[in-house]
Amino acid sequence: MDPATAVERITVERDSGITVVFGDGVECGFDLEELRVNCPCATCRTERERGDLPWPKPTSPRPLTVVDAQLVGAWGLGITWNDQHGTGIYPWESLRAWCDNDGPQLGADSGFDAS
Ligand SMILES: [Zn+2]
Repeated sequence: MDPATAVERITVERDSGITVVFGDGVECGFDLEELRVNCPCATCRTERERGDLPWPKPTSPRPLTVVDAQLVGAWGLGITWNDQHGTGIYPWESLRAWCDNDGPQLGADSGFDAS
């Protein structure tokens, strides 16, 4: 496995952010709101394509927090948010690209769909 997309350590601060240390020693911090807005699931992707933001909605609890985070196989991180949304899986590869490029690279061809 490529150490750049292997994960050494994950720190979840439920109300502030997620830090991932990759296998090559690079440490990347992700802001919760940015992660939520860029949720890679099909529903959120459709909203973004329409020009809407998947978060926040008028009913979204503020501040945003992580209810649960878990490893999905070896390839990604599943996050459940306090607005009850939990279908997005963030592949390490995409998080690493986000980190390297200083912005989300969660394109349709990045290998993940909610299904
Ligand atoms: Zn989503």
